[in-house]
Amino acid sequence: SIDMAKDNLTAVLHGIEDMRLEQRPIPQIADDEVLIAMDSVGICGSDVHYLAHGRIGDFILTKPMVIGHESSGVVTKLGKKVTNVKVGDRVAIEPGVPCRYCDHCKQGKYNLCPGMVFCATPPYDGNLTRFYKHPADFCFKLPDHVSMEEGALLEPLSVGVHACRRAEVTLGSKVIILGAGPIGLVTLLAAQAMGASEILITDLLQQRLDVAKELGATHTLLLKKDQSAEETAKLVRETMCGEPDKAIDCCGAESSARLAIFATRSGGVVVIVGMGAPEVKLPIINALAREVDIRGVFRYCNDYASALALVSSGKVNVKRLVTHHFDIKDTDKAFETARKGLGGAIKVMIHVQPRDANN
Ligand code: NAD
Ligand code: ZN
Repeated sequence: SIDMAKDNLTAVLHGIEDMRLEQRPIPQIADDEVLIAMDSVGICGSDVHYLAHGRIGDFILTKPMVIGHESSGVVTKLGKKVTNVKVGDRVAIEPGVPCRYCDHCKQGKYNLCPGMVFCATPPYDGNLTRFYKHPADFCFKLPDHVSMEEGALLEPLSVGVHACRRAEVTLGSKVIILGAGPIGLVTLLAAQAMGASEILITDLLQQRLDVAKELGATHTLLLKKDQSAEETAKLVRETMCGEPDKAIDCCGAESSARLAIFATRSGGVVVIVGMGAPEVKLPIINALAREVDIRGVFRYCNDYASALALVSSGKVNVKRLVTHHFDIKDTDKAFETARKGLGGAIKVMIHVQPRDANN
């Protein structure tokens, strides 16, 4: 039904509250690239943030940008040098492509590359479009039994895997996860798969904690906004069998980062995934005197293959996260649903093609 020669319907963010569906030319590929017929694209909090505010920190929208970066599609054309995928392969797209030449890239920490080109982070276009080109080595072939939606969900799942790796979650870890949004929930799934024995998750919304419980969190804790972090840390310790040795902040609130430090066992690790205010007040003497390490997490690095292995082996089931489905033509409604959390929305999925029969 889609006329390949002409139809490249694309969701373009022109400015604050100004998303438009428009036709764009079908891209020409380079020798190391593939052309992809896009299939599923999940909406991420950052997409919604750019729509509402036009910026995240120093990344500022100054010209129209194609939105979308949690995605999958089918390879329709190969550059001359491409050997890792074939035409017809269903692939997940790792959306950040680094320079490959700088020290960070060479040392394997390519997520820190200053030359990173990341989909739908200004000034770079994303991939909520019918046809999109991407370097082939950042495409991951999906086995037949893995759905396109699961392929798109490898993006947030990779954040969870990376966060757990940064926290050194391992067999028997006791983990607290602060925030049960999509990122907190994928972190929960990754921590379980990596052997955590106890996982406590917090949120301000009971509805989200209910989903976390369903996904296997051993404890949930409903917090009130600006509840004392020290008091809450006591509550966390009473709820769990002893003190947690890993804390992963997935909401970005100051009170949450404070709680993470106070609650973590001496010698443990706090990792910060959530992006809130750029500067916050932290109990730093408490952290240093108890040798609690505080670590940042920025996206992911060499985690896509692991995320895919978790899903394809059945160790992790990400399907429960998807609560809503929209066609690309209803992108506005999809963003409205994600933004307002309508109908208990967790992950809103936009479909560029009819829904995959695998679901
Ligand atoms: P989200 O807003 O959907 O979820 C956040 C959850 O935290 C919500 O359920 C909210 O109710 C809850 N919350 C708010 N304040 C809280 C508090 N004080 N204590 C406990 N829970 C609280 O967001 P998301 O998509 O799940 O992403 C989570 C965070 O991770 C965001 O800040 C996002 O910007 C960040 N993020 C960071 C990276 C990275 O590379 N570091 C990658 C992706 C997302
Ligand atoms: Zn680099």
